[in-house]
Amino acid sequence: MARTKFIAGNWKLNLTIAEGTALVKSLVVPAGVEAAVFPNALAVHAVAQAAAGSKVGVGGQNAHFEEKGAFTGEISTSFLKDAGAKYVILGHSERRQYFGDTDALINKRLKAVLAQGLTPILCIGETLAERDGGKLETVLKTQIEGALAGFTAEQLATLVVAYEPVWAIGTGRTASTAQAQEAHAFVRSVLRNVVGALAEKVRIQYGGSVKADNAKELLGQPDVDGALVGGASLKAADFNAILAAAG
Ligand code: PEP
Repeated sequence: MARTKFIAGNWKLNLTIAEGTALVKSLVVPAGVEAAVFPNALAVHAVAQAAAGSKVGVGGQNAHFEEKGAFTGEISTSFLKDAGAKYVILGHSERRQYFGDTDALINKRLKAVLAQGLTPILCIGETLAERDGGKLETVLKTQIEGALAGFTAEQLATLVVAYEPVWAIGTGRTASTAQAQEAHAFVRSVLRNVVGALAEKVRIQYGGSVKADNAKELLGQPDVDGALVGGASLKAADFNAILAAAG
């Protein structure tokens, strides 16, 4: 099954409006590749406007599960959509680690994302202690089943999953191509049980210190359908090299 490669840049709490709009305008997306950037929420609107008419989509880094109301400080999917977002990252390990995101909470956020017709990127991944303790498969299965509980395959038609081993995020340490492919194949097997035939269509991105010099090999694995890139998405030259590797 041919799946369109999807390269996403997670800018996290980096890049001002001026920096983000300049960067997005200098991205070059090869034919047949899907690309998106995820600016700070305050920059989503400006970056989406700067990217209008280009091949780069824009998304939010998280979203609250309610649309509006008395939720001081939160950002909802309807506001993200209004600002021009087409995608939302959910369950990033930094959200899980620092902000208490649980699988149940991610499940609620996912419902709101799908209700707005936005494309979710569900992040999953194990810590080093979990991998070393032989819990890789249990952790991934629990995270997938917990986040997707209660949805039909039809509702999840646009789902994207990002496998991001926590020990490889921002550390310069990348999973080997064999480790990545093994985990991705396992993720797809779990997805088969949860969403049936749709599993063959779900893009599974790899995330964790993806750089120009390792992107091609990782993206060459049969179940690696793209990349979720942090640090290397902050500079046009670095991100363009990864985009080129996906083409
Ligand atoms: C990420 O934030 O999802 C990520 C993979 O970061 P980095 O590429 O910097 O490891």
